[in-house]
Amino acid sequence: SPVIVAIDGPSGTGKSSTSKAVAAKLGLSYLDTGAQYRAITWWMLSNGVDVSDTEAVANASAKPVIVSGTEPVGPTITVDGEDASGPIRTQEVTAAVSAVSAVPEVRTRLVGLQRAAAAAAPDGIVVEGRDIGTTVLPDATLKIFLTASAEARASRRSGELKGAQSVQATQDALVKRDAADSGRKTSPLAKADDAIEVDTTDLSLDQVIECIVTLIEE
Ligand code: C5P
Repeated sequence: SPVIVAIDGPSGTGKSSTSKAVAAKLGLSYLDTGAQYRAITWWMLSNGVDVSDTEAVANASAKPVIVSGTEPVGPTITVDGEDASGPIRTQEVTAAVSAVSAVPEVRTRLVGLQRAAAAAAPDGIVVEGRDIGTTVLPDATLKIFLTASAEARASRRSGELKGAQSVQATQDALVKRDAADSGRKTSPLAKADDAIEVDTTDLSLDQVIECIVTLIEE
């Protein structure tokens, strides 16, 4: 039966690079659920929805049409037919995404898309996020929870931002987002009881990929 791999953890732990590489290596589909929360957030910001108004966000949550491609090499995401892969990575979206993600109607809608994507994957899928092992796919074949020190996460993320933000500012923003993601009432960022924790602080990307591939093949 299809392999379902859940990869959760806070930002900057290498979740996306790891998940894509594992999926590509094993011929599995791939889904970035964070990109979907970013996409709905981008739509709210672009359509004048006050993201601090829970009711306004809830009322608008069904409106955008979000389509995620599940190809690990070059995953795509569109909102109302428009390519959203660039705009969902801006600092404006990053700063607003935790508030939008905390709204239960938003989560219900996206969890539905995520379960449908997993059910449709012919050979299995690697799904990355915050609540995949606990809520979205509790029967996953393998659950991984990636961690890393706050310093390591901030320096990796500032590498990706190519100096657009100082390491300290990046670390402050990451810590703030993790606290919001861990503290929300609905499906907070959490390690499932049966997840395997991998601390990536002192591991290279290749080592993390190898570790997960070995666990899947066991
Ligand atoms: O993974 P990424 O950092 O792109 O996720 C962006 C945000 O989306 C997270 O900070 C979190 O607020 C939200 N998210 C979530 N549940 C998921 C994936 C992401 O709430 N499964």
